[in-house]
Amino acid sequence: MKQNWIKQKITAWYTAIVIAVILVVVIGILYVTEYYVVKEARLELQDEVSDFYKELNKLQDTSSELLELRYYDDGVVLSIYDAGKKMLDGFYPDEFDISTPFKDGQVQEIREEDGYFMISDRRIEVGGEEYWIRGIYTLNLLQGMSRKLLNYMALIAPFMLLITGFVGYRMIRKALHPIYDLTTMAKDITSSLDLSLRLPEPKTADEMGYLTETFNYMLRHLEDMFKRETRFTADAAHELRTPISVIISHCEYCLEDLELTGEVREELEIICKKARNMSELVSQLLMIARAENGTYRPEYEKTDLILLTDTVLGELREKARKKNITLSLSTRMSNMEITCDFNLIMQMLVNLIDNAINYGRDGGKVEVFMEEKEQQVSIRIKDDGIGIPREEQSKIWNRFYRVDASHSAESGSGLGLFMVKWIVELHKGTIELKSMPELGSIFTVTLPKDIP
Ligand code: ADP
Repeated sequence: MKQNWIKQKITAWYTAIVIAVILVVVIGILYVTEYYVVKEARLELQDEVSDFYKELNKLQDTSSELLELRYYDDGVVLSIYDAGKKMLDGFYPDEFDISTPFKDGQVQEIREEDGYFMISDRRIEVGGEEYWIRGIYTLNLLQGMSRKLLNYMALIAPFMLLITGFVGYRMIRKALHPIYDLTTMAKDITSSLDLSLRLPEPKTADEMGYLTETFNYMLRHLEDMFKRETRFTADAAHELRTPISVIISHCEYCLEDLELTGEVREELEIICKKARNMSELVSQLLMIARAENGTYRPEYEKTDLILLTDTVLGELREKARKKNITLSLSTRMSNMEITCDFNLIMQMLVNLIDNAINYGRDGGKVEVFMEEKEQQVSIRIKDDGIGIPREEQSKIWNRFYRVDASHSAESGSGLGLFMVKWIVELHKGTIELKSMPELGSIFTVTLPKDIP
């Protein structure tokens, strides 16, 4: 699954939104400022030009009196021209292009690389002569300010991005922390199968608190259901035990003490075999129920694992012989003492070696290798049988799971490996499987010499 964490997604969105809002606000402020400054400038310019116009109208002797006029007022520079647009007096800003055409009574805006000007021209007749008045308002400051602000923005944008991203990420991580607790708890429950675990009670009545409560409620509910289910399995198995032992003992009596015809004997042998399988299944079910509801109390004692394995191999030798399978034990040690529950470890060895025989090749071999490394022992059970397809390898540890009929022994129940895994985990060990279809399987159990 592609990793795409919510906190990274929210941080990316949040950072993008914050930056977009800042940009919109800055551009908005620039736009509004410009709008009002330009509006004020236009009014001021028109005012000054019409004041100048009135003053000029009052003149009697234009040529000498022109020099006495004021050509600069309230940020507006003024100049006067004759009919041929030759400048007679006044000022204009340095960067202003004096060839800009005159437009009577209009306000022109000239925005160029090196200047931003607003111009107002008026035609006037004094003493029968034509004159032109030009008022210029320089808005360079406004243009410079906008440019500078945008440059600064571009400069600080990466830092803003970093800071908002960093602060946002930390805030979101803090806010989502309870979700990590939930995830860790869910993982703990899955690995330990301990449904009695609960999340710490929420301190605040927010969404996370509500989620925690719901999660705990779900766990309580699951725990109840689970307990009811295991109680039912235990009760059912317990109830089945007696009638099955009665069937077995009656069958055994008939087989041993009665004179039976060949056909009846064969049928009785089948019944007896199936009843024994059933008895085995019921014991396993009882054991699993006790393991799951925590009522199984392991009895740890010092055990020589080599001796125990040898005994198990001895018991299964007859079964292996029927399939012409040779059983062998290889180890460099003479004894291997570990602390374990004797009965459970024996059950584990029986299940693994029995499987190796059941799924082994006729005329093949089952080998057990044992070695000791520091504080651990490892037992490797290798067969050269049918193997387990890769896609089945993670499933075979589940309760009642069996690879399809062609891959499963007729007498099996699908509980053996589930029990093996439980026993190994109870002893704080690990189990690994390597298998190739048609080549065989290797189960490796590693156990600590002393239970930690
Ligand atoms: P079962 O009672 O069916 O043997 P187990 O839990 O012991 O149940 O095993 C589950 C399934 O795993 C078996 O049905 C079988 O298909 C497969 N299996 C177990 N051990 C081996 C093995 N050594 N070689 C091939 N398949 C195996």
